[in-house]
Amino acid sequence: MRHDDDFDYTKQAADHLRETGERLGLCIGSGHAHMFVAAALGYGSRKAMQDDPNGPWFGSQWLSREAENVSKIEEAIKRMNKAPVREDQAPMVAEIVRAGLTPACRDCGEHSSQSWPLGYVEAGDNADWVCPRCSSDDAQYGHCRCCGDDVLYLLDELDDQGLCSEHRGEFDLSPEEEEDWDSYIENIQKDG
Ligand SMILES: [Zn+2]
Ligand SMILES: [Zn+2]
Repeated sequence: MRHDDDFDYTKQAADHLRETGERLGLCIGSGHAHMFVAAALGYGSRKAMQDDPNGPWFGSQWLSREAENVSKIEEAIKRMNKAPVREDQAPMVAEIVRAGLTPACRDCGEHSSQSWPLGYVEAGDNADWVCPRCSSDDAQYGHCRCCGDDVLYLLDELDDQGLCSEHRGEFDLSPEEEEDWDSYIENIQKDG
């Protein structure tokens, strides 16, 4: 699922926090949800986050990596009038926010902080994302022998040797190597 550059992942995270909260029997209002997202990203309020000239780019698919501030969430809970969660639930709130900041899975639409970008992408680049459950489908996804397990590919993008387009031919012999092999084999056969 690809989004325009002006897509706001912090808003997506606030919505996700409210929906997940509802399923857990927690009623989290919009204002509180936005405050938790800002807190996870290290801010005292959404306004402070928006006003920070060096603040996060809301259109980035990689915001969850920066949303580790559990102590800021605890502070926010303490400050809140009728907080919808307890202080000891701050780590859970942080985890839900991180999931909500991550793009939806291209297959099932789930949000997970453990999702992978598809293909060889640098942090910050836009990609399609796949959740852990869908990416474990080895009839659809796989890994390049050279890129390793940290890069997820569609099986269609890998050749029959299990190599991505970048590494295709990595194990093919050069014409000189092939000649060497031929004479080597010839020699063995002669001696044998
Ligand atoms: Zn999925
Ligand atoms: Zn590769």
